[in-house]
Amino acid sequence: MSDKAQHPRGVTLLNYPRFNQGTAFSPEHRRAFGLDGLLPPHVASLELQVQRSLRNFERKPHDLDRYIFLNGLQDRNETLFYRLVIDNLEQMMPIIYTPTVGQACQEFGLIFRRPRGLYISSEDHGRVADILDNWPYKADDVRVIVVTDGERILGLGDLGAHGMGIPVGKLSLYTACAGIPPSATLPITIDVGTNNQSLRQDPYYIGLHQERVRGEAYDSLLEEFVTAVQEKFPHALIQFEDFANHNAFRLLQKYRDEVCTFNDDIQGTAAVALAGLFSALRLTKHPLSEQTLLFLGAGEAGIGIANLIVSAMMDEGLSEAEARRNCWFVDSQGLVVESRKADLAAHKLPYAHEYEPLPDLSTAVDMLQPTALIGVSGQPGMFTEPIIRAMSDFNERPIIFALSNPTANSECTAEEAYTWSDGRAIFASGSPFPSFTLDGQTFVPGQGNNAYIFPGVGLGVVAVGARRVTDEMFRAAARTLADLVGEDDLEQGRIFPALGRIRELSLEIAVSVAEVAYEQNLTAVDRPADLREMIASQMYEPVYPDVATMQAAYEE
Ligand code: NAD
Repeated sequence: MSDKAQHPRGVTLLNYPRFNQGTAFSPEHRRAFGLDGLLPPHVASLELQVQRSLRNFERKPHDLDRYIFLNGLQDRNETLFYRLVIDNLEQMMPIIYTPTVGQACQEFGLIFRRPRGLYISSEDHGRVADILDNWPYKADDVRVIVVTDGERILGLGDLGAHGMGIPVGKLSLYTACAGIPPSATLPITIDVGTNNQSLRQDPYYIGLHQERVRGEAYDSLLEEFVTAVQEKFPHALIQFEDFANHNAFRLLQKYRDEVCTFNDDIQGTAAVALAGLFSALRLTKHPLSEQTLLFLGAGEAGIGIANLIVSAMMDEGLSEAEARRNCWFVDSQGLVVESRKADLAAHKLPYAHEYEPLPDLSTAVDMLQPTALIGVSGQPGMFTEPIIRAMSDFNERPIIFALSNPTANSECTAEEAYTWSDGRAIFASGSPFPSFTLDGQTFVPGQGNNAYIFPGVGLGVVAVGARRVTDEMFRAAARTLADLVGEDDLEQGRIFPALGRIRELSLEIAVSVAEVAYEQNLTAVDRPADLREMIASQMYEPVYPDVATMQAAYEE
């Protein structure tokens, strides 16, 4: 676009969120882009706009209103949105991501205002590439795609096309936490229908009002999608997000060695849980290889975590069989054991140990005496007082991770874990819990937030043009994250670093992931003299460009 007449100007520029600066447009901008008279005379600074936005954010009565407010801001002024989010991340994260994003997805049809991202439906079979062509930004710029089919949104089940809130939220975190430029991100929802009957009957539902397409038709739509992405966005990493586990494991297996992809629910969750475990073991002072882990829930999160833990235990010298034997699962039918093999899904089979069948978690805790309990069932309140007390009887410091999201689905609260263990539990949750004081001691619960991992992994992968995303990268990310937890954090029981440090953490994770990419010969870019510097230089910072920079950007 070199024709000056075509440059966004005037009202068009004010309605263009990527370049809009609102009241912060300087007199030079106003003259250059025909804005004089269209804005009130006082020129605000970005800092003042952030303050004003924060005050507006805080006076909203409900978190969902805050979510709607932030969405509106993102649609109006992208730079201001990211400045606000980055500078106030601990306050913003629970709104743009879990738990509030869960409610936003449940009510997506009601709160829907402007579309963001791309919708591909089962009716688009045969023309997916044409739909990708409609993305208005340069194809070469697209570096990270987050895609969902909405079948398992957080712990909330099938929300169909309303699941779009998740790719949108995750990509905002890619930008806020790791500096992936907003123009490099693309949220996609694949709408094949929903088996959530109440949504199908909801007149506000934005997706196809039909039952889910399954089987061959589903697989070939996904195949067309992955192929079209390779053709149209050849530099993009594809993150699969919130697919139901019967598709998630299959799709990961099918594509992980063919394209640059990963599944955050399986692999990202695994890395954040492994990092939490590494930190917890700094407190218990026992090696990973000596842990007995009992999982409640044998889905994407649980099996993904166990698989990564097994590989980390093998790094400590155990055989695969020995490492697996340290990981046990209770699902909705009781302990996963060999005698149930005929009825078990394939992903559970490696953990179906020879053992007597046990009906429930409580019996399994008594019999197996695990050192760590990991809740990934999506079922609230399953870590009961007797279970936590039993864990505290045979462990000096029981490790209790209640990872189910959103908050209402957590297997126990932070307060319960600390109270029932007499302050000895090493606790982490999926959604945030406030600090809790017991007998004068204040505990800061860790949040096993995937945002510690996936933005940094994505940054590392795209910075060096890695062709694949490997388990070694996730292990490196987990180790790096755990090493960044300070002694002062651990003293307060906090096994993840403060979220306020996220950009620094993401950079370190990106460097460790890029190192693995070089070791595994997966890179498209020659190794720079200073890898950290090269990656840091690619991180987006929300600042307002001057007139010349804006002109240059338009003319690209
Ligand atoms: P999933 O549907 O793949 O698996 C859920 C598993 O729980 C299944 O194996 C199911 O059989 C089991 N289950 C259901 N009811 C049960 C019961 N009453 N007792 C025992 N097991 C039961 O889902 P997923 O992707 O594994 O996610 C599970 C939960 O973990 C969700 O709430 C999700 O939000 C949470 N999660 C947290 C994080 C995080 O904290 N970073 C990351 C990913 C997922």
